[in-house]
Amino acid sequence: MRCPFCGNIDTQVKDSRPAEDHVAIRRRRFCSACGGRFTTYERVQLRDLVVVKSNGRREDFDRDKLERSIRIAAQKRPIEPERLDQMISGIVRRLESMGETDIPSKTIGEIVMESLARIDTVAYVRFASVYKNFQAADDFDKFVSELRPDAKSDE
Ligand SMILES: [Zn+2]
Repeated sequence: MRCPFCGNIDTQVKDSRPAEDHVAIRRRRFCSACGGRFTTYERVQLRDLVVVKSNGRREDFDRDKLERSIRIAAQKRPIEPERLDQMISGIVRRLESMGETDIPSKTIGEIVMESLARIDTVAYVRFASVYKNFQAADDFDKFVSELRPDAKSDE
């Protein structure tokens, strides 16, 4: 696994343990080149999901993108990181168990809103308000940048 700080490929696993009620394995990793520490999660991928946008375009479902948008919506809210991880895993499991590999982006947005509404109203409102524009723009990257409270073009 490449070190996210210095790009060194030779990183070591220092600790592995079950996380999220044994749905994932959490690994603490150490980079011997820069001394950086980071965490990775290993999960079962039941099937490869494809997101179908409202304009008909398809793209591979990307858990990281989903997670990023949710974390931005939940920024600085009093939500336990573990709770958020569980919520995200729950959303992905729901998507994976829908019995279809093709999932409309609208469905994903609705499931996220439903889940966020249950844990934090502010995060829900943030996500929902941007989601409306997203429906029009239908561009996930734009969506993520709009969710960012201090929207800068730094990515
Ligand atoms: Zn490093």
